[in-house]
Amino acid sequence: MIAERSGHASAGIRGAVDSRATDVEQYDLFLDVFFGELRFDGKLVITLESKDDIALDSQGLRVSSAVGNGRALRFNQRDDSLVVESGPFKGKLEVQYSGAIPDSLAGIYKAPYDSTYIITTDFEAANARRMLPCVDHPQCKAEFKLTVRIDKNLDAISNTPIESVKTEDGKKVVSFQRTPRMSTYLLYLGIGRFDEIKQRIDNIDVIVAGTPGKARNGEFALEVAKKSLEFYESYFGTPFMLPKVHLIGVPEFSASAMENWGAVTFRETSLYVDENSSFSTKKGVAGTVSHELAHQWFGNLVTMKWWNDLWLNESYATLMGYKVVDTIFPEWNVWQDFLIDETSSAMNMDSLRSTHAIEADVKSPDDIQQIFDAITYGKGASILRMIEAYIGSDEFRKGVQSFLERYRFSNASGVDLWNSLSECSGREVAKTMTEWISKPGHPVVTAMIDQGRIMLRQERFLLSGEHEKAIWPIPITLSINGQLKRLLLDKEEEIVNAENVKSLHLNADRTGFYRVHYQGLDELVWESKLSASDRYGIVFDAMAFLLAGRTSLTDYLMLVKRYSNEQDYLPAREVSDQLAFLYSILESRIIDVSRDFHRSHLALLESKVDETSSMMRGIIAARLAMIDDDYAAELGSRFSDYENVEADMKGAVAIGYARAYGSFEAIAKKYRESTSDEEKVRLLVSMATFEEPRLLSQSLELARTGEIKRQDQMTMIAATTRNPSARDTAWAWIKLNMPYLREVYEGTGELSLLLQSCVPILGIGRVKEVERYFEENKIPEAQNGIKAGLEKLGIYQRLVDSISDGK
Ligand SMILES: [Zn+2]
Repeated sequence: MIAERSGHASAGIRGAVDSRATDVEQYDLFLDVFFGELRFDGKLVITLESKDDIALDSQGLRVSSAVGNGRALRFNQRDDSLVVESGPFKGKLEVQYSGAIPDSLAGIYKAPYDSTYIITTDFEAANARRMLPCVDHPQCKAEFKLTVRIDKNLDAISNTPIESVKTEDGKKVVSFQRTPRMSTYLLYLGIGRFDEIKQRIDNIDVIVAGTPGKARNGEFALEVAKKSLEFYESYFGTPFMLPKVHLIGVPEFSASAMENWGAVTFRETSLYVDENSSFSTKKGVAGTVSHELAHQWFGNLVTMKWWNDLWLNESYATLMGYKVVDTIFPEWNVWQDFLIDETSSAMNMDSLRSTHAIEADVKSPDDIQQIFDAITYGKGASILRMIEAYIGSDEFRKGVQSFLERYRFSNASGVDLWNSLSECSGREVAKTMTEWISKPGHPVVTAMIDQGRIMLRQERFLLSGEHEKAIWPIPITLSINGQLKRLLLDKEEEIVNAENVKSLHLNADRTGFYRVHYQGLDELVWESKLSASDRYGIVFDAMAFLLAGRTSLTDYLMLVKRYSNEQDYLPAREVSDQLAFLYSILESRIIDVSRDFHRSHLALLESKVDETSSMMRGIIAARLAMIDDDYAAELGSRFSDYENVEADMKGAVAIGYARAYGSFEAIAKKYRESTSDEEKVRLLVSMATFEEPRLLSQSLELARTGEIKRQDQMTMIAATTRNPSARDTAWAWIKLNMPYLREVYEGTGELSLLLQSCVPILGIGRVKEVERYFEENKIPEAQNGIKAGLEKLGIYQRLVDSISDGK
């Protein structure tokens, strides 16, 4: 899965049934679907063996009978389970049941578009139990044989190709081929009217399916999918396991995408590219498609034993996704994006006390749903990248191939992968990996020079400013007078002898998962030949040191000055991100610096014509429009000719218009007229930038009218954090609508992500009130996000206070 970055699990479910007691061979499921009535009747035959009474996960289903090997059996149904009084059992259990199809985002649900809908499913992590009673545990793999009865005018899509279609009582009966052995969370069913485009490579049909009129925007995704499959078949040395793969555009979807085997689902903005798509959308689509297809092997063919190893699935697919996109589009330089989107966003979260180890301790579905986060994806992927660099990419690939071969159609844990990597590389991988995976947090290496010797010291880095002793085995790269030196820092301190140091920097190209604090060495560092990634890393760490109280605002701003003429995307983007963030909490103290930077950078970009610069121009313009009234007016005037504005600038033009002309109606009208989700999201984001509270309230209220897709509501709410004038209105709205938000995001991890990003900014100036609110209103399905959000709020507020105290 790829979680949506702008980013509830149900409180009722307590945990999976004991999967060790039951061994399932096959689920033979017949679903009679009443599309118009949004309900279904199920007849399920499970071939299984159980050591005791059969215990199945089942949520929201009404079971009417259970028959074991032809004999009616008594059963007990609770909120989250079905226990059949079978005693030790071997054979076929037949269960008849029925269920409703809600307006939710988890399990089997209704996904509306225009004035109709499709029925779709999303089962990761523990939501297959909402469609069929099953052992909903990744280790309990089984074959699925699915048949559905649907209205004649509808289509159905599942993991495997259709085996037969016949008519029965005026309805259509669609039977799908048997699946390979797989985990329950990978099962898929979609029902509705779909358009398709397809291509065949080798023996695989690659198909984009979407609601009518949409699939044609899937050409770009189809092309990326084709190239990705070719890449993986060769990289993994194992062919794709199914005769077809669908990429399905789902009109309402909580994540970005989900890797159901052979039937990958996407949010429409993560699948479709049209002439109005921005470069970042195009990059996002390529990245998402390649990530999900990596899972078809790594995750689907070989699956983690339990969700504590979710990171193994996600980190690996993340790393591979970048590898593939870099191969297809080398000019995009996506390893830069890897640093921003994976390594750095993970480090930011990992600098909090409330972070967790990569290998997470998860028990309940609520716990699981909340670990689809930056640590699981970004930190894990960064550590794997570090290990790949350490053992060499050929050995790394051989290790992965041997791992897939050994555990195909089965399950494995992290240790199994380290063993394969160690065997194939002849290097000891397990010990290093264990240290990085089992410990929360990451190190900061302090570097100083004393009497001709370079002193390196490590400790855990915390944004709180606390110092904590901890030791990681860090593969250090050290550039001294232009010469690269490598060493493994696996103790607290290390001394490196070096004569006559004229230039020095650490963590070359920012490939290591650690920060560097140079003490009194600034001039030596800037004397070095620094790559764009190096310059990026220096300012990235500086922001963290400012928040942690290791650097003053004055020193930080002095450093930022060095970037005023920065020509490379990566460092310039980081400075822009930081100034936009600081503006959201410090406003007047930062506005002049930010305006100067963004104005001069916009001028620098004028002559550049590549896609990255075009995207950057849009980002810079949007930020300048927030803080420069004249510029907002000039930019916003283009809104009257919005259709002809280039794609990368559209978002900025809408923001300029909202800031300078403040017409809610005009933007809402354009929103209603647009048929593209990408366009709609741009306009929603602009509605979060109004200066007037009345207009902001009007915008947020739109979320409750049903006019905005549920998946996009949180994008709009999250966007209010970049607008200091929105803080009061947005916080009041969130409090008032919390019961609504909990209902909308029930069963997904989205509310946790939302609160983690909103609370630290919207809470500025009212820390006590926010803390009290969450004490009085317990939200267990978002507790991780709330905890992290409150911790960050404390840190940001401390910076705000220290600056208003004049420090
Ligand atoms: Zn994934």
